[in-house]
Amino acid sequence: MIPFCDLSRQHAVLGEQLEHAIHRVLERGRFVLGDEVESFEAEFAAYLGVRHAVGCGSGTAALELALRACGIGQGDEVVTVSHTAVATVAAIELVSARPVLVDVEPGTYTMDATCAEQALSAKTRALLPVHLYGQPANLDPLLALARRHGIPLIEDCCQAHGAEYGGLKLGAIGTLGCFSFYPTKNLGAIGDAGMVVTSDDRLAERLRLLRQYGWSERYVSSAKGTNSRLDELQAAILRVKLPYLDSWNERRLRLARLYDEMLTGSVVEPPTPGGHGQRVYHLYVVGCEQRDELRAYLHALGIETAIHYPIPVHLQPAYADLVQPLDALPVTESLQSRILSLPLYPELTEEEVITVATAIRRKETLGTP
Ligand SMILES: *Cc1c(COP(=O)(O)O)cnc(C)c1O
Repeated sequence: MIPFCDLSRQHAVLGEQLEHAIHRVLERGRFVLGDEVESFEAEFAAYLGVRHAVGCGSGTAALELALRACGIGQGDEVVTVSHTAVATVAAIELVSARPVLVDVEPGTYTMDATCAEQALSAKTRALLPVHLYGQPANLDPLLALARRHGIPLIEDCCQAHGAEYGGLKLGAIGTLGCFSFYPTKNLGAIGDAGMVVTSDDRLAERLRLLRQYGWSERYVSSAKGTNSRLDELQAAILRVKLPYLDSWNERRLRLARLYDEMLTGSVVEPPTPGGHGQRVYHLYVVGCEQRDELRAYLHALGIETAIHYPIPVHLQPAYADLVQPLDALPVTESLQSRILSLPLYPELTEEEVITVATAIRRKETLGTP
């Protein structure tokens, strides 16, 4: 049995340190926005090379706060992709703005800059590319586009902790970067948690107000805010894990290389090499023709896989209003039946990768199972 993801393996290694962190928080008796959060914000900002990191409740909340901090709301449009976690689009709707969904590049599965340019209108107030699977989006032309139109570029970094572009960490390149620390992300809490990062002092101050009732001081709301704070417990856990992030990402990369080697010439296509910047692997996503058949075959062998995502946002029942028939997204729509995510996490063994890859290679030589 090879699980798609198994967080208990991480606990087996870090258990003592994590339990120590939990006890520290319990003994101190402060649970929301305290010393652990402040320290983690400083440590994460230093890791990324940004001036400010503002902790919040989730990746969705990070995106929502980032949009609000830019003053985006009713009547505004935000250009993003349909091939993403639905959370990206949900955040835009949460601030009452209109998501404008564009297609992705075939090789990187990230925002196509030409499509983004065509989607700009007088109402566009932000570009929101997603660094999906850990693959940096094509930021240079997108940044140029944002600059030309005088609008912010907000990076969805929820799958790309530690990835780089032009020598800078993702999140440090756009006006704002948004992170999720959902447990299965490359840096994960033991519940929901998120972070917005920026080097703009004014935006950082605004984010701090907005995450807590708009309070400039206790009980004084100088803005209309929300409640999306980071827990001390989650911050303490994340402080234990942050020092491991780079070595975990290296381990993911090594395992991805092993998959690449073994899967070349098989029934599946490994991720396209190259791309923009220095990717990390959040997900190892292959392309294949008979995806559902392959998935069932692997499942029968005890190998769990997943699909990210089976339905693009514009074809979700709740978001059917977002794209007119003429605005079809051909690349996005062609991916949906082809993509398959194989197990990939730092604690996965080489033997397990070899087992998965060998099973896929056998599928080729044996034909139907
Ligand atoms: C996980 C994820 C989010 C949302 O993060 P939550 O913490 O689950 O709210 C947003 N965008 C992308 C690309 C994600 O993978």
